[in-house]
Amino acid sequence: MSRNILLSLLAKVQTSSLILVGKNMLPYIWPKNRPDLRRRVLLAIVVLIISKIITVLAPIFYKSATDLLSKVSNGPEALKTTNIGLVVIFMIIAYGVSRVLTVVCTQIGDMLFTSVGQCAIRSLNNRTFRHLHHLSLRYHLETRLGNLSRVLERATRAVELIIRNGILNLIPTIFELFCLTIVLLFFFNWVYVFITAITVILYMWFTFSATEWRMTIRREMNDSDTEANIKAVDSLLNFETVKYFGNEEMEARLFDRSMKRYERAAVRTYYSLGILNTGQAIIFTVGMTSCMALTAHGVTMGNHTVGDLVMINALMIQLYIPLNFMGFAYRELRQGLVDLETVFALLEQHPEIKDLPNASDLEVRQGEIKFEHVTFSYDTERVVLKDLSFVCEPGSFVALVGPSGAGKSTISNILFRFYDITEGEVSIDGQNIANLQQKSLRSAIGIVPQNAVLFNDTIFYNIHYGRLDATDEEVCEAARLAQINDFIQQLPEGYNTVVGERGLKLSGGEKQRIAIARTILKAPPILILDEATSALDSQTEKDIQNALDEIAKGRTSLVIAHRLSTIIHADKILVLDNGYLIEEGTHAELVAADGLYTSLWNQQQNLNSKST
Ligand code: ATP
Repeated sequence: MSRNILLSLLAKVQTSSLILVGKNMLPYIWPKNRPDLRRRVLLAIVVLIISKIITVLAPIFYKSATDLLSKVSNGPEALKTTNIGLVVIFMIIAYGVSRVLTVVCTQIGDMLFTSVGQCAIRSLNNRTFRHLHHLSLRYHLETRLGNLSRVLERATRAVELIIRNGILNLIPTIFELFCLTIVLLFFFNWVYVFITAITVILYMWFTFSATEWRMTIRREMNDSDTEANIKAVDSLLNFETVKYFGNEEMEARLFDRSMKRYERAAVRTYYSLGILNTGQAIIFTVGMTSCMALTAHGVTMGNHTVGDLVMINALMIQLYIPLNFMGFAYRELRQGLVDLETVFALLEQHPEIKDLPNASDLEVRQGEIKFEHVTFSYDTERVVLKDLSFVCEPGSFVALVGPSGAGKSTISNILFRFYDITEGEVSIDGQNIANLQQKSLRSAIGIVPQNAVLFNDTIFYNIHYGRLDATDEEVCEAARLAQINDFIQQLPEGYNTVVGERGLKLSGGEKQRIAIARTILKAPPILILDEATSALDSQTEKDIQNALDEIAKGRTSLVIAHRLSTIIHADKILVLDNGYLIEEGTHAELVAADGLYTSLWNQQQNLNSKST
């Protein structure tokens, strides 16, 4: 029977994931390049072992004191003659000191492990964070941001849980059981070892099974809690919409429905805790009383002393504390393992776009961009760019136009190598971008994207981000060129104004100009402007256009535009439709060609004349 229980226990601890996580955790808990931390781990283990040995030895002093006192009860004469009184006091003090030492050693072990644990958390979090930035754009587009930040949060919690509950609790308790067995064999006999073993196994089996059962209830409680939370946040975020439609009552009812589910689950959680505590107490007390009854019988038969009875009682009660904690430790440990599995699974994810082993740095000589027979699809179902070939001459201003969804922004994604193409070749100054270091490629290209997103930091931080070694004057100069300096100066906090989540405290046009300033500061040899001036009014657009023309001088620039009036001076205009390059030429040539460009141009001219 006990073998079956043991097997089921092992199955529950999920040995395979334990080994896997253990293997992955080892470099963090036993870091190769940190001998100081490894020394701490060893010291902590030694201190914890000492603490457990003292724990098991303490009741022996108690027993000796009791045995001596029972001699005294035979007659005070004995006390005088053998000076037993002093010895008894010494034993009692030794008992007290050993109990204090147990606590001190445990705390020292705890403290020593804390620095190891915190260092492990830091390294694991740093590695995960770096890895997240290395993963490709596709991964980030497909994964919810909330999930990723939770992964980092969980990694921290999981390492703490595993160290606290696994290393500082579970393993020392197992060692304590081993010491206890030796003491029981020395002072008592194998029957006591057997009873204790059965008690511990039954106790653990019950605790683990009940914990497993409770976890399903807890999960329900957590789910309903999350559901209520999501409901509340969503409802409050849509505060105005709720008011517009007068639906406060309905929102409150929906919230209450989630809270009711939470209430039921919470009550069941507390009931189940009651059942768990009672079951544990019954199993343990039966084991302890059996041992005590056996010893009491031994005392009456003259095989044991009263001290033995006291000692078995103290040993068992001492064991109850770590055992009782084990259910909690087990649950936390399981949660930690599950969380860490997620973290390690994430770390196993390979970035879609990788540098080749012999990838070289991009050397921009003149800035010629060449697309040769490029075919590309985001997923296998739909081809987005089809056999696309064009050249941007060094230092030229090339415009990309075409209907929405034609593939214009995709071209910039490919140039940045956020995705690898299916067929063909993209090169800069004759160097195939697939053979280059991504970092060097990206540092040579600057972009003002369609929807500029800013960091929730100051305006200065956001512009300075373009080139981290830029001086304050250079930042102001970039802002001046982007026609945003005057606006910034008017703000009460000036350059120190915080722009809010994703830059939402600024208008679309202000955000766009900060993004332009950031790219001006970067001063890359190749420039991509993806609808860079779309969020601006006509006057500001004209002003910025001049600034952009200025910075585009001597740089190869690829400009994506819907408003054709902004690109009529381009050296070359590429007209894209449904992934195909269908026309190519200057504005005059394309208007004369009477194709898609002409009809787009005429449509916009008509709209303009109607609006004026
Ligand atoms: P717009 O002028 O509206 O910005 P665009 O010409 O820049 O359009 P792209 O953004 O290049 O068009 O998109 C081309 C096609 O690729 C579209 O049909 C779009 O739905 C699809 N697409 C864009 N990004 C992705 C993506 N990450 N995954 C899958 N499909 C995508």
